[in-house]
Amino acid sequence: MSCKQRKIAVMGYRSVGKSSLSIQFVDGQFVDSYDPTIENTFTKTVRINSQDYELTLVDTAGQDELTLFPSQYSIDVHGYVLVYSITDIRSFEVVGTIFHKLQDLNGKIQVPVVLVGNKTDLHMERMISYEEGKKLAEDWNAIFLETSAKQTASASEIFHMLLLEMEKIDGILGDR
Ligand code: GDP
Ligand code: MG
Repeated sequence: MSCKQRKIAVMGYRSVGKSSLSIQFVDGQFVDSYDPTIENTFTKTVRINSQDYELTLVDTAGQDELTLFPSQYSIDVHGYVLVYSITDIRSFEVVGTIFHKLQDLNGKIQVPVVLVGNKTDLHMERMISYEEGKKLAEDWNAIFLETSAKQTASASEIFHMLLLEMEKIDGILGDR
């Protein structure tokens, strides 16, 4: 079977762990001091159900309510990881704004989205409950996960779930 190329954008408010989750997935390690302002692109090949995927991850520099949705994040992107921090209410509001901008751009086309509540290891500082996150994802018809970027398994699960969801949608719409 040929290798499928898939591009994924990781979006969300600043300091929620977009880079940490991306690096944890790509390199299998937690990097504590990563420049928050930069945008990076990573590639990784994964195999799921005997299908190889060449993933391009766009680890974005971060968005807020006022950021216009950059058009380079809507072209050729097959799926989105929208990250908030369970310790930061503002970041939970910002994923909502990003999702609505995504919807405006894509119209009725269903785009695969995984909503991620990150930093579960900081449970003493939790401001957003698991139920609130899950409810929001249900409203969007998106997948929901809580993660800690300190754990390799939870970072990989995000991208595996997203790929499975892409396959599901491809199956309905026909291959792209
Ligand atoms: P980004 O701006 O969304 O890319 O966020 P970063 O990945 O740069 O992370 C911002 C800060 O939060 C850094 O100090 C990270 O080490 C820290 N961080 C990221 N994810 C986690 C996590 O799951 N748990 C904890 N405790 N800290 C995290
Ligand atoms: Mg970053």
